[in-house]
Amino acid sequence: MPRASLRNIPSVDRILHELDGVEMPRPALVALIRRELATVRSEAMRSRSSIDATQRVRDAIDGLRRAKIQPVINGTGVIIHTNLGRSPLGASAIAAMSESASEFNNLEFDLTDGSRGGRAAYLEHLLATLCGAEAATVVNNCAAALVLVLRQFASTDPRREVIISRGELVQIGGGFRIPEILEVGGATLREIGTTNKTSISDYSRAINRRTALILKVHRSNFFMSGFVESPLTDQIAKIARKARLPCVEDLGSGAMFPTESLATGGTHEPTPAEVLRQGVDLVTFSGDKLLGGPQAGIIAGRAKMVAALKRHPLFRALRCDKLVLSALQETVELHLRGQLDAIPIIEMMRASIDDLRTRATNLMELLREVPANVSIGSCESQVGGGSLPQLRIASIAIEIRPRDVTPQELAARLRRNTPPIITTVSAGRVRIDLRTVFPRHDLALGDALRRCLSQ
Ligand SMILES: *Cc1c(COP(=O)(O)O)cnc(C)c1O
Repeated sequence: MPRASLRNIPSVDRILHELDGVEMPRPALVALIRRELATVRSEAMRSRSSIDATQRVRDAIDGLRRAKIQPVINGTGVIIHTNLGRSPLGASAIAAMSESASEFNNLEFDLTDGSRGGRAAYLEHLLATLCGAEAATVVNNCAAALVLVLRQFASTDPRREVIISRGELVQIGGGFRIPEILEVGGATLREIGTTNKTSISDYSRAINRRTALILKVHRSNFFMSGFVESPLTDQIAKIARKARLPCVEDLGSGAMFPTESLATGGTHEPTPAEVLRQGVDLVTFSGDKLLGGPQAGIIAGRAKMVAALKRHPLFRALRCDKLVLSALQETVELHLRGQLDAIPIIEMMRASIDDLRTRATNLMELLREVPANVSIGSCESQVGGGSLPQLRIASIAIEIRPRDVTPQELAARLRRNTPPIITTVSAGRVRIDLRTVFPRHDLALGDALRRCLSQ
């Protein structure tokens, strides 16, 4: 093995020559090799251990190449997987996006009189209709929507206080904590109640002349049971109205259909329309959770408030681009037309056990001669993406107990496949939940399994 003493560290050119055929633009490759060799060199100076420089560079290149954003097959059973890009888009949304990308469009052009026009007026009308709201608009994501709302309504003295229940001071995903968002929004937190119990009188007693708004954050990614109490949305909205304060609810997931129909014992996720009907002034939710569209943050509610948000300088910084707007426009049209099965995540949630079992049986045919114990198992899919944490949808999985390698090694090989296949490992088996695998990938999945098992 070539020892990485300072003398025998290979040159950039030699490594480039050896790595002929690596798919990465040459300047990026050269920069990476230089960086790695510099690290190896400084390590070689500090210690006497031998370092295989070429191998180190090779590993670094492999690691970086795998970090390139690329399609993967999701076998995890988590439908809206935050680490796997949340909601995949449907065909019509992709077509609209692709058309907007390749052609000029009327993004800010009024086709009636040929002058400069407002952005996304049609989409805003669709969103308002879908939410049963006077008006709606859209920014980059739901976190941005919340920051904008706070900046507009809770960041000027003397009214900065935002009343929120201690049971709702939550963390949603990585790096999104309600108290921190409030701070970024220029608001001050006025916590009320306790983790498990907040009463309506906690709200009314907290109101003072510094109060800017009342915020309700939907417990989208966890649930509490036992000795718990929180007032109904309509009671909170009533108190806000009496005190002439805006009442805002951050819904997060943005369910537009009766989620209780997804599984027996399924819970009902409040829809934006329901929450607004209960007297809330503004709701915020994500475009790429249960709505099944692109990443976006939707704000719907009172026309005056939405108009004020659109005039805020921050709105310009948080607005969406034409690709997102086109995909969202198409997705919202599907909701309004009731064509829910054209939205991939909803189609996945509703796929029947019988269909999944048929697919599993067909896959088993492909795996008849592999060195592993392969079986069809039942499992439970989750919605994910911080939505419906209690919901489990009965599903069907392919379970593989490999003979020649550990299940961890098989899972690693599958991740190195093109396209990478993401699985779960438990009880000595690699499990692939077919609910989250698009049927169009079944053949590729079977092929990859055969290849990875017989390597
Ligand atoms: C997911 C979630 C958010 C954040 O939404 P992003 O679109 O990821 O910014 C905010 N609030 C709630 C309640 C959520 O569930």
